[in-house]
Amino acid sequence: MNEYDSNRILDLTKKINYFVTTNVKEANCYVLNTCHIREKATDKVYHDIGRLKKEFRNKKKPIVLIVGCVAQAEGDILLKKEKYIDAVIGPQSYHQINDIIEKLEKKKDPLNFTEFEVIEKFDNLNPIKNSDNKISSFLTIQEGCDKFCKFCVVPYTRGPEYSRTIKELVTEVKHLIKNGAKEINLLGQNVNAYNFEGKKLSDLILEISKIKELKRIRYTTSHPRDFTDDLIEAHKNCDKLMPFIHLPVQSGSNKILKAMNRKHSVEEYLEIIKKLNELKLNIKFSSDFIIGYPGETRHDFNKTIELMTKVKFINSFSFIFSGRPGTPAFDLDKVDEKEAKNRLIEFQKIAETIKGNYRKKLINKNAKILFENKMKSGNRYFGRDEYFNPVIVESKINLTGMIKNVKILKGTQNTLFGEIVPNVDQTNYAA
Ligand code: SF4
Repeated sequence: MNEYDSNRILDLTKKINYFVTTNVKEANCYVLNTCHIREKATDKVYHDIGRLKKEFRNKKKPIVLIVGCVAQAEGDILLKKEKYIDAVIGPQSYHQINDIIEKLEKKKDPLNFTEFEVIEKFDNLNPIKNSDNKISSFLTIQEGCDKFCKFCVVPYTRGPEYSRTIKELVTEVKHLIKNGAKEINLLGQNVNAYNFEGKKLSDLILEISKIKELKRIRYTTSHPRDFTDDLIEAHKNCDKLMPFIHLPVQSGSNKILKAMNRKHSVEEYLEIIKKLNELKLNIKFSSDFIIGYPGETRHDFNKTIELMTKVKFINSFSFIFSGRPGTPAFDLDKVDEKEAKNRLIEFQKIAETIKGNYRKKLINKNAKILFENKMKSGNRYFGRDEYFNPVIVESKINLTGMIKNVKILKGTQNTLFGEIVPNVDQTNYAA
C-alpha cells in the first residue's frame, strides 16, 4: 500500500511543480514514506536522515517530510528528536502535502499532520489521475482495520475501516488500464472487509471484471473472518480472479489465536480452505505466521507446523514476535529469545521444503504468464504465473503486457525459468 501511496503523492506534488529525481543531491524536497510493521522502524528513519544530512552537508537542506505509519505512530517524538524533519504526515493526511510544502517553503515551524481524514483524502485524490503505468497495478480500495489484533499497529496508524465507492474505483481502474495495466491488485489492510453501502469485495470484483481490457484481478490482504461465501463464489464466477489467495493465519494454535484476538479459530480457517478447494479450481494459498508469540508453548508451535504441513502453503512470511510500541502485546512476557529463534528456523525449513517440492512439480508444465517488463540484462522478460510465481523467459519479441503460454524448464527457490510454447492454450500446473 505504501507503493500505491507513494505514487499518489507524486501525482499530487506534480501540481505544484515538484517532480521525482533519481539524484538525491538535487532534491528540494525529500519524502520518506515509512512502514511501522517491522522492528526498529523509527531507528531506520533516523539512519536515513543521517545519510541525508551527509548528502546535504554545506548545502541548503531540502524540505524533509516523514510520511506513513511511523509518522502517524511516533510523529511527535520524531519532530522533537530530529530537527532536520520539517513535517510528519500520517497515511490519512497525505492529500494535504502540497499545502504543507508551500507552508514550509515560507519557513514555518515543524508541522504535524496526523489526523484521520480518510474521506477527505480520497475526495482530494479522486480528481487527480493515477499516473501509475505498470502492467500490474495496485489499487487501494479499503483502508484501516477494526479488528485490533493485539500485536498490530494498523488500527492505530491507519484508523478505522473505510471503503472507497465502487464508482470511483471503476473510474480509477479505467485510468490504470488506459495507462497500460492488464492486472489490478486490489489492496486493503482488510481487503475483504470492503463494504460500500452494502456492496462487498465480490461485487466490486464482478463489476471491474466487466472491463474487457482487464485480464487479471488479485486482492490482498484478506482476513479469515471476512472470507464470506460470496467471495468464495466470486472465484467460481470470475475467471479473471487469480487462483491464489494470501490468507494470514498467524498461528495454528487456537489458544494463541485467542490470545492474539484474531477472532477466528484454526477450524474456521480450514473450513474456508475446504470450501475453496471444493470449487476444484486448484486454488493455492500463502500465509503470514508469527512465531514465539507471548505464551506460545512447544505444543502450540507444533500446531502451527501441523497447519503448515496440512495446507501446504506455497509461500509464507514468518517472523519472530516483536512487540510494537503502543499495542497491547508490547508489554507481554516474551518467549525465550533462543527458543523463539530455533522455532523460526525449524518452521522456515519446513516451509521452504514445501515450497521447493511445489516448485519442482511445476517443471515441464505449462503456465500462463503475464509479462510485466523487460529485464535490464539481455532479451529477458519478467512475468508472473497465475499463482504469482515470478517467471523469466528469453524472447526476441517484446512480451511486455502479453499473456503467453510458457513451459517451465527449471527453477530456483524464488524464480522459475521457461520458454514460450506456441499454440498451446491450456495450463497443466501441478495439483
Ligand atoms: S486484522 Fe490485520 S490489520 Fe487488522 S489488527 Fe489484525 S493483523 Fe492488524
